[in-house]
Amino acid sequence: MEEKYNINSLKVINDIIVKDKIPHAMLFEVDDCNEAIKCIKDIVKLIMCKEKDKNLHNLNCGKCNICNLIDTDNYPDLMIISTDSAWIKKQQLLDLQDEFNNKSLLDNKRVYIIQQADRLNPASENSLLKFLEEPEDDIIAMLITENRYLLLDTILSRCQIYNLKSNSLNIDNDIKDKVENLIEYFSKKKNLFVFYKDIFDNVLPDKNMALRVLSDVEKYFVYYLSNINDIDYSDSIFKAIKNIDVEDMVLYVKIIEKEKQKLEYNVNYKIWVDSFFAKVIGDVYGRNSSC
Ligand SMILES: [Zn+2]
Repeated sequence: MEEKYNINSLKVINDIIVKDKIPHAMLFEVDDCNEAIKCIKDIVKLIMCKEKDKNLHNLNCGKCNICNLIDTDNYPDLMIISTDSAWIKKQQLLDLQDEFNNKSLLDNKRVYIIQQADRLNPASENSLLKFLEEPEDDIIAMLITENRYLLLDTILSRCQIYNLKSNSLNIDNDIKDKVENLIEYFSKKKNLFVFYKDIFDNVLPDKNMALRVLSDVEKYFVYYLSNINDIDYSDSIFKAIKNIDVEDMVLYVKIIEKEKQKLEYNVNYKIWVDSFFAKVIGDVYGRNSSC
């Protein structure tokens, strides 16, 4: 069950053990943030534990005081930031910085983990950025996300990125024609308002279908962006996706994520369709036409 996060296979182990180099900030892109936390804590143990011989077969001793404290979430120099709500709040980042302003009592590295880093809102994202911009030797940041394209470029550029996603695309075959249809419209930059009736009747007829279709479009885009050199173009959807500019695709992922949230908040569906179309035409189609 843990196999997809088999840490032996990770490049991060190589960096830490073989190169003896630990990046100040790491971003782990995973299938499921909650499942991945165990693997990430194993990496923390690898960094913190002083008992073990560092080799690929004996990553952490699993019995020293440090390892035990990390396993039970009681290690004072490891902070985990997470949220049950839509956003990680700025105050959580400020508390973290306060905590880390004091020197470690244990004379060891200090680590903070941000689970679901894509739930940072603009204010908390900026606080984190300030923290990342002034790295201290003994502080290590570990960000976990299911979708790196939702984070600011300025944060991504400061992190060593490790893709731990399993290379599978879990899409809903029942709605594949709708997904393909919408991607075709995007790839040909068709004016969505001109085809309003066709899209409304056949692709996005109601809120629930819109959520399902947009989720799968997003999955296709993220899969494409993460596996760009290894795409099977016998799938006609990927043939269409290939015509979309990569920067546009990143924009689509961000827009779709926001639009899904709006839909879930019970907006008037017809008004939502209008604003979604306007957003795509203004933000994506309009991005290149102005110059
Ligand atoms: Zn240990």
